Amino acid sequence: MSDIIIGIDLGTTNSEVAVVQDGISRIIEVDGAKLLPSVVGLADDGALLVGQAARNQYALYPERTIRSIKRRMGEDTKVAMGPQSYTPQEISALILKRLKQAAERDLGQPVTRAVITVPAYFSDAQRQATRDAGELAGLEVVRIINEPTAAALAYEVDHPQGKTILVYDLGGGTFDVSVVRITKDLTEVLASHGNNQLGGDDFDDRIIDHLLEHLRAQGHDPRENRPAMARLTRAAEAAKITLSDAPFALIQEEYLLESAGAPVHLALELSREDYEAMIEPYLRETLDAMHIAVKGAGLTVADLDEVLLVGGATRTPLVQRRLEEALRMQPRSEVDPDLCVATGAAIQAAVIAGVQVASVLVDVTPYTFGTSAIGDLNGEPYPYTYCPLIRKNTAIPVTKSDAFETVYDGQRAVQVEVYQGEDPDALNNTRIGSFLIDGLSDVPAGNVIITSFSLDVNGILHVTSREKRTGLEAKITIDNATTRFAEDELAAARERLSAFIDADEEEGEASIDASDTDADAAGERREAVAARALVEKAERLLAGANTDDRDDLVDGIETVRDALAADDIKALELAVAQLADLIYYLES
Ligand code: AMP
Repeated sequence: MSDIIIGIDLGTTNSEVAVVQDGISRIIEVDGAKLLPSVVGLADDGALLVGQAARNQYALYPERTIRSIKRRMGEDTKVAMGPQSYTPQEISALILKRLKQAAERDLGQPVTRAVITVPAYFSDAQRQATRDAGELAGLEVVRIINEPTAAALAYEVDHPQGKTILVYDLGGGTFDVSVVRITKDLTEVLASHGNNQLGGDDFDDRIIDHLLEHLRAQGHDPRENRPAMARLTRAAEAAKITLSDAPFALIQEEYLLESAGAPVHLALELSREDYEAMIEPYLRETLDAMHIAVKGAGLTVADLDEVLLVGGATRTPLVQRRLEEALRMQPRSEVDPDLCVATGAAIQAAVIAGVQVASVLVDVTPYTFGTSAIGDLNGEPYPYTYCPLIRKNTAIPVTKSDAFETVYDGQRAVQVEVYQGEDPDALNNTRIGSFLIDGLSDVPAGNVIITSFSLDVNGILHVTSREKRTGLEAKITIDNATTRFAEDELAAARERLSAFIDADEEEGEASIDASDTDADAAGERREAVAARALVEKAERLLAGANTDDRDDLVDGIETVRDALAADDIKALELAVAQLADLIYYLES
């Protein structure tokens, strides 16, 4: 037990600690949360505050609160906190110490060794300062690894032939993008580029500007009022986070300030559309940086095999959309982007400690879910344009919503169709449900309907449509939303086969070949679909299994996954049979 090594992501905005136990990587909570704000401060009575408490007082007492110390690492400088000054290493050590204590409390044993991550661009001096901080906190830093490398480890993107991946990391206050080459024996950062003064906090600032403008138009200016500015800052971040999942955010702050003896209340709605326009210039900058990094690695975007999203701000849908447009592949974000660097650090720590590590198991949706609306398809207006709300490989449970509008004046009802699939033409996807929202207000076209999709870990999909102006709602619940497609695909495969077989009888030899090939393909598809369903089932059993059974399950899942990845139908049959036996044994 004593050789346990923890993994630490010492971030600019937040820090996290993780550990591998029983082969599984897990984030350790600090003060009941997975993210520890990287903020240190002194309370009124001189007591040391680390984390959320320090963050809470930052706006009010910046003179005795320190944040973003990571930016100063490696500098020969001191920062003031209350009556005294401290080196960046000392402040970082206080954060590390808190993480170490949380790990010790969680694990019930002393922890003395850690792997700590740093940005790929960190100089030797910055790396050394990080080591020193570890030592001051009572931690032997067994290895410093690059953050993009840790992210790649969390995604287990090693591959027999090697893989080239892009890690796009947009945190609270820093942005960097790295091209990482991973082979069986070596992981190297080929190129890295970024801006360590760009991040989600800038998005907050744009919202704050917008709120100030709104208040100024009413004759109020709270810029000199610290408590009011602190509330606006918090409200702006909350609105930003809401807009990642919903088309509108209501920003409401009662009694924000007093003006001429009367209280000023703030109530303002911000649409995702307006917010996206505010942050678009930042995203353009990140895409430029991405192209520079790819070029710096001597590659083109066509050489990239995967794109991984790291950092809380990558949850912004526009970030994902712009990247997908630029790279023509869906970025991966199923490992929580806030936690994936710490997860990778823990995996590296386990490898150093000689501990077996299983893959990071995350519940994801294997399919995309969405609805249809009048839109553009191939540049033409089309009534069944697919509007995906929950994209495949999104971690579940998840809720996403989007705004739609009625198309003609006095439209009193909308038929909401629910589809599963990837095709931009909704009619080529599988329709898994449909409902009517009726009794809408008699108003001109453009009446906003907010449709929300919620998918839980059991594959149950709730779809709700709500008329924005009145709150009128209609909804549907679809059970087995994530497996239904498998059944439909089987039916479709059978249908396709029967069409071929019928055609054989009429058309002779040539089409018999075709039907054979298709039958094989359909058989293979069927195997693969069944195998994935089995893996899903095995993953659900993991939580309740004891350590031995869990190891067996993880092995079984891995063997099936390997066979799927290798497209080896014989190996797949064997692996599926073995996993099915194991599940049968565990369930009986
Ligand atoms: P990190 O430095 O990786 O911890 O990222 C922190 C940044 O991510 C902060 O600016 C957060 O406000 C931002 N963030 C966290 N969750 C979301 C979300 N759901 N949508 C947009 N930004 C988010």
